[in-house]
Amino acid sequence: MKNYDYLIVGAGLWGSVFAHEATKRGKKCLVIDRRTHTGGNIYCEDVEGINVHKYGAHIFHTNDKEIWDYVNSFVEFNRYTNSPVANYYGELYNLPFNMNTFYQLWKVKTPEEAKAKIAEQVKEAGITNPKNLEEQAISLVGTDIYEKLIKSYTEKQWGRPATELPAFIIKRLPVRFTFDNNYFNDRYQGIPNGGYNKLTEGLLQGVETRLGVDFFKDREALSALADTIVYTGPIDEYFGYAHGQLEYRSLRFENQLLDQENYQGNAVVNYTDSETKFTRIIEHKHFEFGTQPKTVVTHEYPQEWVKGAEPYYPVNNDKNTAIFNQYKALAQQESQVIFGGRLAEYRYYDMHQVIGSALKKVKVHFEGVLQD
Ligand code: FAD
Ligand code: UDP
Repeated sequence: MKNYDYLIVGAGLWGSVFAHEATKRGKKCLVIDRRTHTGGNIYCEDVEGINVHKYGAHIFHTNDKEIWDYVNSFVEFNRYTNSPVANYYGELYNLPFNMNTFYQLWKVKTPEEAKAKIAEQVKEAGITNPKNLEEQAISLVGTDIYEKLIKSYTEKQWGRPATELPAFIIKRLPVRFTFDNNYFNDRYQGIPNGGYNKLTEGLLQGVETRLGVDFFKDREALSALADTIVYTGPIDEYFGYAHGQLEYRSLRFENQLLDQENYQGNAVVNYTDSETKFTRIIEHKHFEFGTQPKTVVTHEYPQEWVKGAEPYYPVNNDKNTAIFNQYKALAQQESQVIFGGRLAEYRYYDMHQVIGSALKKVKVHFEGVLQD
């Protein structure tokens, strides 16, 4: 007899949803995390009453009512709408790319004028079948926007030429011909009232957790505790990098507590020029319409991932996809291990997609629903 039905490695969103659902079904779970807190990358730290998104700005958005109801069953969400501003050498532009941006750039006032301007630039660039991020971006919004708002931001963020990055990354951003600065097209959007820790606490209520525990430091003993392992860490690390290292993008966050009420008037300001070394400044209080007398701002500096650093973003190019597929084949042979989440699936998942992935796995695992 083992002590637990499931040992869940990683107290991030994927692991927490799985733990919640398994516990609900009467299973005994132990959740471990090598960090000293739960929540993974959605964790918030309270600084002077402000919820600081410790691992980068997180805005919840989804089109799926079931997922929206699911998260709201743990904590109510506010009406925050993400509307970042781009700063290009001191000029300000609205994001995502919409009529406000087109007016600011070209003084065009109607959708027809904006479309004509973009069409003219796309034609001049001669791209018919976009094969990488640069070609995709130019074919969506033309060369002016690409040069001022996309190229340098992207190359800082990913540390690679935009011609070597997959096109799907830029398709995350809407392009619309209305005066609408909402960064997302989804029906539902917001921030949990009181911060993301409320969501994690709700999910992990009644679940045993041990923090500051690295699975790989005590792999055998920990594995012996449970019938099944649920692994949400980096997949290459699980297999001892047998097929080589996957590439990740990491970040360095520089936090400042400022003795002023309002620093930049917006939660997110992107710096899209090449000279500024950070990609964005986050002013956390604006996610929750904070009225505290002070403010906390974070400068976000992208950097290449090295062993020991936090692997924030998978780099889903052809090279890494080929390596990942080899790990995926190994994972399929591990009958007593379930793999899931941004790191184990090596996918650029947003939170709603992580929840969707975990709930799908729960259905396959507990209810025998066939995986597609
Ligand atoms: P994680 O949150 O990474 O959790 C994995 C956990 O496993 C970690 O806590 C880690 O410490 C632990 N772990 C790993 N290995 C081990 C080990 N060997 N032993 C013990 N523990 C281990 N999504 C949105 O929807 N909206 C946003 O605005 C948004 N912004 C983002 C901004 C940034 C900068 C980043 C990096 C991500 C953002 N995301 C956003 C994505 C979101 O963070 C993820 O989709 C989600 O949090 C991933 O959950 P996860 O459980 O898969 O992984
Ligand atoms: N992007 C850009 N300029 C911006 C914002 C985003 O070129 O001002 C590009 C960049 O390549 C980025 C991608 O769009 O990696 C996706 O942006 P998103 O805001 O979704 O990135 P995340 O919040 O996940 O870092």
